[in-house]
Amino acid sequence: MNKKLLIKLFRYLRPYWKHFGVVLGLIFASQAFGLLAPYLFAKMFDAKTFGDAMIYVIASFLLWFIVATVISTMRSYWETKHIVFDTDIHLNHTSLKKLLGLSIGQHRNQHSGVKQHVITQGQNSIDQLVQMILFDVAPSVIQTVTTIILVLVVSPVVGAWITAITAVFMYFSIKRNYKYKPKILTWLDKNKDQSKMVSEVYRNVPLVILEAQEEKSLNQVDASIRETAQFGKNVWIPFIKESALLRIILGIARFGGIGIAMYLTFNGQFSKGMLFAFVSWIQQALGNVENIAQQQRRIMIMLGKTKKYHDLLEMESDVPTPAYPIQPQDFKGKVEFKNVSYAYPRRNAENEPKPNDLNSLSSVSFIIAAGEKIGIVGESGSGKSTLVNLIRRSFDPKSGNVYIDDIPLTNLDLHYFRSNLGNVEQDIAVFDLSIRDNILYGMNGRAKYVTANELKKVAQIASIEHFIENLENGFDTMVGEKGVKLSGGERQRIAIARALIKEPKILIFDEATSALDAYNEKLVHDAMNEASVGRTTIIIAHRLSTVIDADRIIVMKKGMVDDIGTHFELQARCAEYQKLIKNQVVSI
Ligand code: ADP
Ligand code: MG
Repeated sequence: MNKKLLIKLFRYLRPYWKHFGVVLGLIFASQAFGLLAPYLFAKMFDAKTFGDAMIYVIASFLLWFIVATVISTMRSYWETKHIVFDTDIHLNHTSLKKLLGLSIGQHRNQHSGVKQHVITQGQNSIDQLVQMILFDVAPSVIQTVTTIILVLVVSPVVGAWITAITAVFMYFSIKRNYKYKPKILTWLDKNKDQSKMVSEVYRNVPLVILEAQEEKSLNQVDASIRETAQFGKNVWIPFIKESALLRIILGIARFGGIGIAMYLTFNGQFSKGMLFAFVSWIQQALGNVENIAQQQRRIMIMLGKTKKYHDLLEMESDVPTPAYPIQPQDFKGKVEFKNVSYAYPRRNAENEPKPNDLNSLSSVSFIIAAGEKIGIVGESGSGKSTLVNLIRRSFDPKSGNVYIDDIPLTNLDLHYFRSNLGNVEQDIAVFDLSIRDNILYGMNGRAKYVTANELKKVAQIASIEHFIENLENGFDTMVGEKGVKLSGGERQRIAIARALIKEPKILIFDEATSALDAYNEKLVHDAMNEASVGRTTIIIAHRLSTVIDADRIIVMKKGMVDDIGTHFELQARCAEYQKLIKNQVVSI
């Protein structure tokens, strides 16, 4: 068992330790009563008078009654009031907070379906695991030990017998569990792969239907689930058989213990009443031993399930927060790259990052003055998006530095910086909220101070005003999941409004028009021009018409800056730029 992991898992639930303590106290109380009750009941057999016998019977039943009703109700009450729901809230909060603390780069590198699986499984398992250990295994162990001590004191012979059986049984159970551990872990991995596959199919259901691949998908999913199930059976059936054998031995040994106690009673060493107490204790002790072995197996499974979740919670952001984050007084929007290189992490089959020698950007240097309008062009894959992602600090450079207003980006207060940054991309992400809420999404507390006029103004600059005015509910119209109720051009222009309402000092467009028809492209283009006034604007474009009027254009080639200049300069001297024009990658 992975003890370090186990200790760390307990730490995730630290705020609830005191409530766990209360429940544990109740469990111990009920155990103490549970041991005492058969003893009192046994006394009845040996009582001198009928009155005494009655008192013992009533006392023992009173104890049982307290255990069965009062204590168990208090326990359920406490668990429901302070543990069950609250730990759930706590773990959800912890996971989401962790995810939001990771870099955009780290998120892009992970399969969202796997992430979900890991989190749901992990959250459920941690909760169950901790409660199982505290409320089930720990009390069982303590009860077994106390019972065995009790029996040892009263009768060393019977006590020694039970101790021996317990030791032998635990030894073989633990050995068996370890033998199965690798197989169980493989089985859990298979479950994870399977859920990744199923989530892929669910995510792409429209594509499956459109391409008429229903049968194939169904068969694929079926086959995958069947394979995992078969593997599970192959693991668990032999396990159950081995367990049965162990249990039979334990059962026989239990009879042996009772037999010894009976023999000793027959020889007059014990009263009949004591025999009764003995039988109860032996049953309790060995019943618990079986339970502990059973739970150890479940703990192993749960630990396997929580491992990946724990890894996620332990994951460090690769864009660390600076110790003293800087918030420039008067943010201007100058951007500088000094010898910036970047390589995307490679992934192996287990999705673990591997070093990558292949740079997507190599020694990129340039200065963009505050308020400048810059175009970036280059073949697909030449590193344009990587470049702007470094400005956004989606990830940090492998070497070199990015400076904003002459301050290293890694020293800036990232929240502050991003609130001064507007982004419009090719794939626009929207929430299934109203148009208004989508436009105001990046505004934080300032959202409620935005006047109707300001909203109208940005809609106007973004060329989306007329569209919104003609909708039945205007700004309150809901956009649907992923914005399905909007066309590409409308989504794009809403994203421009969302970027503009923040009045950002730096505005980035990454192929914002490439999915649009000529008419919409013209609208978005006009919106971009209007929006660029008074702020640093960086426009990645695949059509020259979009960047021809930029102050300067950066030409990217194979991850390097090939040239920087105005359209006319580049047209005259830059072979790559000429090639782009010729190949219609940038057409006038
Ligand atoms: P552009 O935007 O100019 O088309 P990108 O900056 O997106 O190019 O990509 C530059 C290079 O980096 C390409 O070779 C691309 O395959 C690679 N790349 C981009 N994103 C990733 C990623 N998430 N993981 C690995 N490689 C990537
Ligand atoms: Mg790109």
